[in-house]
Amino acid sequence: MLKPVRTKSYRMSRSIPDKLRAFVAARAGLCCEYCLMHQDQLIWSGQIDHIISIKHNGATSEGNLAYSCLTCNSNKGSDIATIFPPEDTLYRFYNPRTDRWDEHFYLFEGQILPKTEIGRATVKILDFNEPDRVLRRQILTSVGKYPPAK
Ligand SMILES: [Zn+2]
Repeated sequence: MLKPVRTKSYRMSRSIPDKLRAFVAARAGLCCEYCLMHQDQLIWSGQIDHIISIKHNGATSEGNLAYSCLTCNSNKGSDIATIFPPEDTLYRFYNPRTDRWDEHFYLFEGQILPKTEIGRATVKILDFNEPDRVLRRQILTSVGKYPPAK
């Protein structure tokens, strides 16, 4: 027998307690855990992302939250995966809690390029290499401000 469908609203980050928000931001060093841009280099405040969205029963807990820039968070939305033709294989996104960034991506002249299919899915949907984003990374790299020191 199937479980009943959840009926409560899928309001996103407003339900995250301030203390948990602060923990997630500090754990990330105020850097987007997807594109690695530091909060100081962004116009808009960082966001708290549900890695597995609430819509897909993701928890509001340390293990399912990531610090994200507005652009990555907006592009990701409630998605958790994408499909590549011609095989129509489903590939999940990079998970900052369980995956290592360097295993899925590398930097090349301001672009974030994939090493794996998980990386490829994430690069595509989060639109890492939109020209303005690449240009911003190139400029910040040239002055030693990207990627941020770990
Ligand atoms: Zn980002």
